[in-house]
Amino acid sequence: MKAVVYKDAYTVAIEEVPEPKIEDPRDVIVKITTTNICGSDLHMYEGRTNVEQGKVLGHENMGVVAEAGSAVENFRQGDRVSVPFNVACGTCYNCVHGWTSFCTRVNPTEGVDGGAYGYASMGPYAGGQAEYLRVPYADFNLLRLPSGTEHEQDFTMLSDIFPTAYFGTDLARVGPGDTVAVYGAGPVGLLAVHSAMLRGAAQVFAVDMHHDRLRIAEEFGATPVSIDGGDPAGQIIEATGGMGADCGVEAVGYQAHDPAGDERPELVMDWLVRSVRTTGRLGVIGVYMPQDPGAATEEAKQGRIAFDFGRLFQKGQSLGTGQCPVKRYNEQLRDLIIAGRATPSKIVSHELPLTEAPGAYDKFDKREDGYTKVILHPAAA
Ligand SMILES: [Zn+2]
Ligand SMILES: [Zn+2]
Repeated sequence: MKAVVYKDAYTVAIEEVPEPKIEDPRDVIVKITTTNICGSDLHMYEGRTNVEQGKVLGHENMGVVAEAGSAVENFRQGDRVSVPFNVACGTCYNCVHGWTSFCTRVNPTEGVDGGAYGYASMGPYAGGQAEYLRVPYADFNLLRLPSGTEHEQDFTMLSDIFPTAYFGTDLARVGPGDTVAVYGAGPVGLLAVHSAMLRGAAQVFAVDMHHDRLRIAEEFGATPVSIDGGDPAGQIIEATGGMGADCGVEAVGYQAHDPAGDERPELVMDWLVRSVRTTGRLGVIGVYMPQDPGAATEEAKQGRIAFDFGRLFQKGQSLGTGQCPVKRYNEQLRDLIIAGRATPSKIVSHELPLTEAPGAYDKFDKREDGYTKVILHPAAA
């Protein structure tokens, strides 16, 4: 089958790889109908992870069951499904307690809990930017979707970024009437705006430097805050009468850079802490890494991000972080899509055959105007 394979920094290729097989009776093979390129794939694309050459990428997957193992009870050939990016066993301590993003059984990497498809340090699982994907513990992991093709562009956001964005607003405990500062208007930040509105926020500020993205944030109801306009924390403090926002979401991650293009991994955290009022809540869902050999400073190479923890303490803010347990939210978000209350597909900018993935990675990585969210269709290849 055809798949998107990591070759080297700034190089992915379409290659022929063996089709996945049922390896355990609890496995399902999914024929991929839609798979997305994620902002977090770009950390691998830019050579900023230890991902191995030859890895099939892709953790945002949906499709139709092609084959079900003999022990699978809930899914049969032809069922339409969303595949959470988390690979989770369903029976370990963390899975039983709802933390499928920290499954203790699926990742052989020493000291790391949690598995994912096609991702650095997240276990031996091939990704789904391919024609077929093997899904372990399928009864536990798969989310059933209505059959047919309706809402394909919305449902494809259920594997990662819509639940991840919602998780950010849950960590920040966004509630009715809150003002919310969302840093980053990439796909996850945009859906954090959408999620905050679904949770009843009164006003959501979206901070970015890309005006095409801020325009989409406005479509979701956000007040745009451009970094061109100067210190964004100052802009938010002023707009809230000196108080600061009630809650904040960080959707940028460790490769944050200032308007001059210099990488400053602490920059967004500093802004976030300043933007949010005393005793406010922060949800940090941008990716950070414990080792980052490509970082600009010695501290950052070891995952040490020197943000203003002193001010966080002084302000009595609470902070939640980590990878999203997709299963905690994907069923409810699916039903909001079906009911017409949620439309995450608004962020889709490009819909391409899988074979055009290498060019799309390049353009998405360069943040070329209009490249917000790329979705790929293997069947069109
Ligand atoms: Zn993703
Ligand atoms: Zn588990």
